[in-house]
Amino acid sequence: MKSKILIHVCCAPCATATLEQVMSDFPLSDILLYYYNPNIHPFLEEDKRYVELKQYIVKRYGTEIDLLKGEYDHDAWISMVEPLSLSGEGGLRCRICYYIRLLSSFKIAEKEKCSHVTTTLSISPHKNFEWLNETGALLSEKFCINWFLEKWDYRKSVALSKEYELYRQNYCGCSFSKDERKTT
Ligand code: SF4
Repeated sequence: MKSKILIHVCCAPCATATLEQVMSDFPLSDILLYYYNPNIHPFLEEDKRYVELKQYIVKRYGTEIDLLKGEYDHDAWISMVEPLSLSGEGGLRCRICYYIRLLSSFKIAEKEKCSHVTTTLSISPHKNFEWLNETGALLSEKFCINWFLEKWDYRKSVALSKEYELYRQNYCGCSFSKDERKTT
């Protein structure tokens, strides 16, 4: 199978440095970006992050990189995560959230005949790298698709976001994280 990578993307700022690093192993034409974030509330915010990502990709790379948007199935996401909502950011609810987004990413990777999957999520200092890596590795076995993850360069993502004047949200995505940021 020809090498092709699916990158699960959560937002434009996190895509910046991740893409730069992935591009050293994969040409642009073999990269598929998959924006799938049913965790984000409200829908207007989910859409805003998607539009920002789309504009950034076209501005920086033209039309060479394909970008897919997943379904905004927020109700299904809530039904899985809500029972653990009190675990706080970085708690168990995030582990389920990672699983939901990565499972969908592997399903799309299978459909699109991708040989590798990764995610931008590990760029954030608020994310649990070990949980992400473990989840990806288990899904990799199940789908027989390669998985790789790095602690992408967060400082570079901040610099590129400034350079391109990207919208940078002040909460992770779900309504729980939004409420928690207000109270801290
Ligand atoms: S805080 Fe972020 S990672 Fe955790 S459940 Fe909410 S949206 Fe998902």
